[in-house]
Amino acid sequence: MTRLTRMFMPDLSATSVWDIPYDELFKQGVRSLFFDLDNTLIAYDEPVLTIESIQLINDLQKRFVVVIISNSGQKRVEKALGNSKLIGIWHAKKPLKSGFKKAIMRSGADPETTMLIGDQLLTDVFGGHRMSIMTCLVKPIKIKSDRFVTRLNRRFEKMIKHRIKRLDPDLFAKTFLEDEHHDNL
Ligand SMILES: [Mg+2]
Repeated sequence: MTRLTRMFMPDLSATSVWDIPYDELFKQGVRSLFFDLDNTLIAYDEPVLTIESIQLINDLQKRFVVVIISNSGQKRVEKALGNSKLIGIWHAKKPLKSGFKKAIMRSGADPETTMLIGDQLLTDVFGGHRMSIMTCLVKPIKIKSDRFVTRLNRRFEKMIKHRIKRLDPDLFAKTFLEDEHHDNL
């Protein structure tokens, strides 16, 4: 497997942000969590964080530095976060490095002890790894609400996954939680 292909392999996979073993991550030394917004914390067509998400984040903030890092614009991110006082980075341009650098600067997070949680291989996993940040891939909350550019990204994702599956089926099975939802793109 090439180094490039490895850049698209998440360090961890989970069904959703609710299924991530945060205690385990803390024990392993993770101290900062960067969350993608769209389809990771809320569906693309939901305007604000749900009470459950806010509770989860509040809880996590007792132990972790938490940042929201989104490719969406200022309006969307500010509205989603409401008055939660969370650090939110909009127009992050993942997988480019600029948004990550901003998130690191504003939060004081150490990339070595940071994990990015997101639903996309191309923007979140690849982008995180470019910054030497650990990554956790979650399943998109609502795939149908995706924007056009995201749908393109998902086509690319499918290609990458096929490649990984062909090169190393065992590693593929361990890395990606597959289901018909994912295969039906
Ligand atoms: Mg997303």
